[in-house]
Amino acid sequence: MLRIDQEIHDAIVAHAKKDHPDEACGVVAGPEGSDTPTRFVPMVNAASSPTFYEFDSHDLLALYKDMDVRDEEPVVVYHSHTATEAYPSRTDIGLAMEPQAHYVLVSTREHGNNEGPVEFRSYRIVDGEVTEEEVVVAAPEKS
Ligand SMILES: [Zn+2]
Repeated sequence: MLRIDQEIHDAIVAHAKKDHPDEACGVVAGPEGSDTPTRFVPMVNAASSPTFYEFDSHDLLALYKDMDVRDEEPVVVYHSHTATEAYPSRTDIGLAMEPQAHYVLVSTREHGNNEGPVEFRSYRIVDGEVTEEEVVVAAPEKS
C-alpha cells in the first residue's frame, strides 16, 4: 500500500498535466526505511518524449547525493503515460531498480481537453514482476 499526502499526490498530477503530451517524471524522497514519501522532487524528462522518459543523468546523480546527505531514499518513483493506461511498460519494468520503491504511474490520456480525469496508480516492481498496490491519499497531518 502506498500512503501519500494529498498535497504530494496533487503535485505529481499537476506535473503530469503540465508536461503533457510529453511524459513527466520525478521522485518523492522520504526518510530511509520510513516508507513515507515527504519530499517532492520533480525531474526533467531528458528524453522530452511522449512515449519514453529518462532522468537526466546529472540531475539523478545530484539527487542521489542529496538524498544520501539527508538519509533519504526514493520512496516514490513516478512518471506519466500520455497516450496509454497507467501501467508499467516493458521498458519501465526493465528500468525499475528500486525494489523498495513505489512506482507511481499517472495517465493523462484522457486529459486532452485539460479537464479529463487523470489516472493515478502504484506498483511494486521486483525482479521484473509487477504488483499493483492500493493508494491511500491522506490529508496532510496537522502539526
Ligand atoms: Zn512508462
